[in-house]
Formats: sequence, structure tokens, C-alpha cells
Amino acid sequence: MDEIRITIDGMGLVVPKGTTILNAARKAGIYIPALCDHPDLQPIGVCKLCIVEIAGWETYPTACTTIAEDGMVITTNTPEIQEMRRHTLELLLAITNHPVSCLICERKLDCSELKECMRKFPATVGCKYCPKEGECEIQKAAEHIGLSEIRYSLSYKGLPVMRESFFDRDYNLCIMCGRCARICSELRGEGVLLPLADYHRMSYVGPSSLLESDCKFCGACVDACPSGALSARFEKWERPERSAVTTCPFCGVGCQIEVGVRNNHIVRVRGCRDGVNRGQLCVKGRFGLEFAESPDRLKTPLIRKNGILVSATWDEALNTIAERLGAFRDAFAMISSSKCTNEENYLAQKFARVVMETNNIDNCARLCHAPTLAGLSRAVGSGAMTNSIDEITSARCILIIGSNTTEQHPIIGLRIKEAKRRGAKIIVANPRRIELCDIADIWICHRPGTDLHLILGMCRYILEEGLHDTNFIRARTEGFDDFAGSLDGIDLKSVSAITGVDLDLIKEAAKLYANGKPSSILYSMGITQHITGTDNVLALANLAMMTGNIGMPGSGINPLRGQNNVQGACDMGALPDLLPGYQSIKSGESRARIEGVWGMRIPDRPGLTLAEMFKAARKKEIKAMYIIGENPVLSEPDASSVVDALESLDLLVVQDIFLTETAQLADVVLPAACALEKDGTFTSTERRVQRVRKILEPPGDAREDWRIIQDIALRMGYRKGFSFESAEDIMREISKVVGIYGGMSYERLDLGGIQWPCPTPDHPGTTYLHKDCFANGRGRFHVLNCTAPEKDEEYPFILTTGRILYHYHTGSMSRRVHDLEYLRGEELVEINPEDGAALGIRDGDIVEVSSRRGSVRARARLTDRSQRGTVFMTFHFSETPTNLLTSNSLDPISKIPGIKTCAVRLRRMGGS
Ligand code: SF4
Repeated sequence: MDEIRITIDGMGLVVPKGTTILNAARKAGIYIPALCDHPDLQPIGVCKLCIVEIAGWETYPTACTTIAEDGMVITTNTPEIQEMRRHTLELLLAITNHPVSCLICERKLDCSELKECMRKFPATVGCKYCPKEGECEIQKAAEHIGLSEIRYSLSYKGLPVMRESFFDRDYNLCIMCGRCARICSELRGEGVLLPLADYHRMSYVGPSSLLESDCKFCGACVDACPSGALSARFEKWERPERSAVTTCPFCGVGCQIEVGVRNNHIVRVRGCRDGVNRGQLCVKGRFGLEFAESPDRLKTPLIRKNGILVSATWDEALNTIAERLGAFRDAFAMISSSKCTNEENYLAQKFARVVMETNNIDNCARLCHAPTLAGLSRAVGSGAMTNSIDEITSARCILIIGSNTTEQHPIIGLRIKEAKRRGAKIIVANPRRIELCDIADIWICHRPGTDLHLILGMCRYILEEGLHDTNFIRARTEGFDDFAGSLDGIDLKSVSAITGVDLDLIKEAAKLYANGKPSSILYSMGITQHITGTDNVLALANLAMMTGNIGMPGSGINPLRGQNNVQGACDMGALPDLLPGYQSIKSGESRARIEGVWGMRIPDRPGLTLAEMFKAARKKEIKAMYIIGENPVLSEPDASSVVDALESLDLLVVQDIFLTETAQLADVVLPAACALEKDGTFTSTERRVQRVRKILEPPGDAREDWRIIQDIALRMGYRKGFSFESAEDIMREISKVVGIYGGMSYERLDLGGIQWPCPTPDHPGTTYLHKDCFANGRGRFHVLNCTAPEKDEEYPFILTTGRILYHYHTGSMSRRVHDLEYLRGEELVEINPEDGAALGIRDGDIVEVSSRRGSVRARARLTDRSQRGTVFMTFHFSETPTNLLTSNSLDPISKIPGIKTCAVRLRRMGGS
């Protein structure tokens, strides 16, 4: 029997077996006060407010810890229970000196009514001036049980309010329920908050400074706090007048957020419990939406006149573009945006193909996961995450390679930590000591750029030991014999020497992965951003297929996509060789099918990739570019050559929300609405298509990207195919053109995200791919060759680049969030302390980092997170344009630049 029947307060109820009485009551809409309980924590029953009466029981059990049993008759609200609750809460408030008048709060201190209120209501619970008034759980409990007076004398603690980044800690209002500390350790795996620290001779929750701790400022503690003790500053005092659920505009995890607004101003952000994030967020999603209200937002179009960008009307700007663009049909390129919606990317590629008659359209996936698309399409027929984020916790072994997951995809990082708690084995392969190394069973610290050797070495050992899955290989794949034969040429001792990893560790990792079934691979740009990027991905596919770790829940090959909609931009065909839905541009059949819907011709010659566009611009073969929401001046490798390319153009149009480094070079700048100011959809890294909803009005004259693109097309005479009335209208066309989106509609998406493939309106979506057969039919093994990286005597260090938790992409959004900038406002060059000592570099010194392409300067951070001989930098900071150093040599298949590593030298320039 999976369900039981109970009676609560006279109401009959059927609940799943194992449900607590508290949760059963909630299901029935019955409120029971519970101040130590939280849905994400194990119930501990210490506040005792949730006591109930059960027929036949002689005690009063706590509802949060008592499992309901079949036939139970429960009463939650007798006069006796309420009386006991009143005593309990009274005592709790008295012993914690909680200001029961709820008057002693920040606002209260400069409230003109303070003295009068205290005189009149010295011990009254509930005050309209409390930062949590109306949302305070103590207040709600007190009202429910009728507690309006405290019989004991209380003294206001008078503790100073601690001002942290984003939120305040006011321990005058703390009742020591422990939720914040438990969330921090049990759910987020951080353990930063410590109950019962000492502060001004009183117990409180430590440490005294979060800035000096390992706090990640995710805000989970703030959201868990039942009182006003922890309050986000931007949420204090204000109550939203309306709210909407939308998708986080930062990384590709696709967290669902509820955003509350008052007077077109964000006053509330919460993670949604029914989203992939299960109510949790990272610092950017929780506190980083401030960028939308930045005074730096572009508010009017700008046109360059006499060398200076000056404000213009929309008519002026759009007419200028429409009049000039027509002359560049054979010399035009467009960069679409992974930050824009699916609908906007769809329209952008349609504009390039139909209006400008070219396939010169690409997006920033070229810089992150082009090898994923190229490699996984070849191996398994689909270039996306094979499995779902939720399935991570059902893996028995997880290999995380080339991904600093807790910083780049924090909510997926949480799932990995949860999997570990459930007993999964964790293998981290990363040249840097990332946070996940602390929970890893095995940390493989290989030399940057030796991933292919490492993976093939693991394959070789698995074969040698007979750990491969012959049944799976025989039934589901092809090309294994050739691949297995090629492994004969792999010498494990050489693998160990080239990677710098102890051979036993490689063997142990291989064994753990092969035996762990289901084993899951998670990877990111540490795998793809190499000139062997596609081979690296193919090697991972070989590893997964030879062990049968694909096609079942909790397994698979899972590329973690960086930007919010990089998956969707590719799905929509913002690619030079693929039409919407990954249909080849070379296929006459595919073109004809889409031409049938569009009623217009599609050019058949594949277009240029990002790097090729800039090269062609330098050669004057490309004369006009239209760049939407991307900042290649900072994000492209060999950045000075990108600036040369953009300066060579006859016409550069940039559409963005800020005047980025790229927009500053434009002839026309178009102000766009950000993700909070428009409707549409994003597709997350797990192929989940989710709604984006308008919650703010855009600033000034800024407009949705799709309307701007459509306006230009209309002014160029293309009424047919560009007369959409709404984003939903565009989605209707997408579902006709893109087979994997065939069953998607706003009507369905409004009920929750759907994972593609979803070919028909009655299809539920697909949680994991390749169940019974691969998209290609059979999975294909690939024979791969690898050569040892060469040592560069002149530039002896290897620079690896990546992102950090507090910033996003080129910083145009995250650096406009005051406290994110406070937490990290400059580039730091991470150098191993032994290398620092050898070069006379101390922590905080300014160092010059030089490669064959240029030099930048930044402050040194000595840390053993970097192994000897390597340094780490980000590309978030325009003052230190790291991509001046990186190389634009390309992976021959996917055309991704080998941006992840480059040879550099270091020089100390001076003390801090
Ligand atoms: Fe947003 Fe990604 Fe953070 Fe989720 S993990 S809140 S999607 S930035």
C-alpha cells in the first residue's frame, strides 16, 4: 500500500506513505506553526510549536517528526494545544530576548513613532515596521495561537546590525532556530554559518564577518530565516505589488525565479521550488538582477556622427541601418546572442538567411560548445546533454572533467554534493584545485591540455582489464574494433608522464567509472576550448559507450552549457552550417522543407564561423556586421585582432543593453530590452525549454530584440515572414520548423518547462536521450590520435582561463551589480606560491602576463589552487583584457579557438 488514509481536523485525507503529519496538514491547507522546520531540512522537532493531538496517544508529538499512519485521527488546534504553544513561544521569545514588540528593528530606530509605540505596546507581537512584517513566521505563529503579551521582562539586546554584501544580519531578531546554519551546511554543503558563536557576550550565529569566510552569498540562509534577523537589503520594507515566474538570465542551469516588483523596481527574488533549482539559487540569480536597473542601461539609439556616438530616434537609427545594409548582402555577417530568447535567435538567423541572403550567422556557442555539437552529433547523433540535472543524484559515479561546476553552474554543483551525500563516487579531473576536489574520491590534477591523453589512457586500462560492456557495444554501437585496436598504441606510462598524473590514480579512476554504473560524465569548457576540442568530446563519448554508460537515467555525457540560452541559440539555427533544429544547410530536402514554411529561398552555401568572420573583416571581405548582445572585444581570443576587424568594417551595428566595449566601436547602437523586460523562452543546458516573462518595463526607448530585428526587415521591404505580433507568434512558427520543438506551445510551457525532443503536442518531453537506440541509429566509436603538447621555452607558463562565481561573461551585467563588484572587482592572476617565490612575486604584487600576442597587468594571488607551471585568469574585467593573450588557432572540425590554454611568461612589475 503506497498511500494511507488519515483524518486531520475532521477532514479525510489520502497521502503517500511516509508523509509527516506536518506535510499532510500542509497538503490539506491546515496551518500548524513550526519555526525550526524547513522543507529542505530533516525535521528535528526542537521548537515544539507543531505539537498535535492524535486519538489514542497519550503524548503530544511534534507534527514535523511524526510520520502519519493509516487510520490516524489528528487534531491540530485544540484549546489545550494552543495554550501549550502560547507558553512555548512565549518562553522562546523571552529566552532569546526577541523584541516582541517587533519594534526594535532598523527602520524602527529612526521611526518617529518609536517611543509612543513602545510606551503603548511594550510586549505586543507584530509591528508594521519590522523588515519582515507580514512575512514574519513568528508573527504568523503568534497570531495563530493568540499570543499578544509576554509575561517576562525582556531586554533589548542592542546588538549592532552586521552589514554583509547583499543582506543584513540583525541578531536582535534571531530566535536561534538554527535553520540558517543547517541550510548552509546540510543543503548547500558550505558549513559557513555556525550557531552559538559569541557576539557581545551573547549567543548568535557566526562567523562575525562573512566576507572573511568561505560564504558564497547564495542567500539560502536569508530565505530560510523565519524572522527579520536575516534580510536582503533590496527587499527590506518593500512588498511587491505584482510578481511573475521567469528564468534566471545568467547561466545555463535554467533556475526558475519569482520576481516581485513595486513601481517598476525589483523588491523580491525567490527561487521556485518546482523549478530545477528546487527553491535554491546562486548569488547571481538571487542578488544579481540589479543590473537591469543600472543607470548605465542604454535608453536611446545612438548614431556615430563626426566620430562620436550621439542620441538618435528609432526612425533615424533604423532607417540608417535599412538604407545601408542592402549594399552589403555579399559581405555581411551577423552574431546572434546566447543571452537572447529562442524567438529572437530564430528571427536573427531568419533575417540573415532571408533578408541578407547569407548563412554568415553564428553565436557565442562557437567559443564554448561547438565541439560538443560536432563531437556528440558524430558519436551519438545529438549534441546536447544526454541526461537531466535531476538525474545527477541517481548516478553511482560522476566524472567531472573540465568543469568548475560549483562556480560556473552552482545549482548543478549542489546536485553533485547531494549525490556524494547519497554515496556516489566523485572523480574530478581538473588542473586547478577547484571546490569539488574537497569532496572528490579521486582528484586527477592533470596538465592543462592533456585531457585527450587522460581519457584515452582510461579507455586503454578499461579494455586491458576487461571492464568494458561487450553486450552494450555489440547491441548498440559500431566501430569498436577499430577503436580498440587504436588503443594498442597507447602506452599508459607515457600517458602518466604526459599528463603528470600518477598511473595508479588513472587506473583507479578508470575502474571506478567503469564499475560505477550508472556513471555520469559532466564536462564543460575545460574539455571543449582546445584545438583538440572535438576529439576530447569524441573521447568522452568513446569512454561512455565502451562502458555502456549512456541511454539510462543517471548516466550519459553531459556538457554543461555556459550562458542562459546558448543551447537555444543553437537549437534555433543561429549557426553558419545548420538550419533551425540542426538541419544541415547542405541538405536540399531540409532547405526545401523550411523554405516551404518561410515562403522564401535559403542560401545553400555554409557561412562563416565567428573567427572566420573577423578574419574576413580584416581582409575587407566582410564589410558590415550586426552584433546582438555579444561583446567579442573582450570574449574573443587574440582580442586586438578583433578590434582591428571591427574597425575595418564599413558598417557595424551593435544591439545591446549596455554600451559594451564592442558597442563603443559601432556606427549604430540599438538599445535592447533585457530578459526581465520581455516575453519569450530560453532553453537550458538540460534541453529544457522554459518561459521568460516580462516583469519590468524597459528603460527609456529600449525595445525587445525581436521587434528591432523585425523593424529592420520591414524597413528593408520584407513584410512577408516578418509580421509577428508577439514572441508567442514566433514560437508558433518555431514549432512548425524545428522538429524537436514540434510539440511546444506557450500554453504548454506556461504549465512548466519541457525537455526536447518533444515532437508532438501530446509528447511529454524527453528526460534522457538514447534509451533504446541512438539518434544516429548506432553509436559510433572514433579512432583518435593525440600528440604530446610542446614546451615553450620562451613562454614557460601555461595560462588557463575561466569564469568565477561572482561574474558572468565579459562582466557587462554582473559588474553593474554593486556588491558583486565589491566581492570581486578586479582581475587576479592565480600563481602557485612556489612559482611566485621563484620569480620574486608576492601576494598582491602587480604582474605582467605576456604571450606572443600581447601583455596585460593584474594583481597576483598566490594560491595552491594553481599547480606549478600554470596560472589562471578570467575574462570578466575590461581593465585586464585577458583575451589579448589567448590564441585564435582553431580546432579544425568545430572551429573553436583553443582559448583554454596559452603559453605565457610572468614578470613582477611592482608591489601592491
Ligand atoms: Fe542563475 Fe545559474 Fe545561478 Fe541558477 S545557477 S541562479 S541559473 S546563475
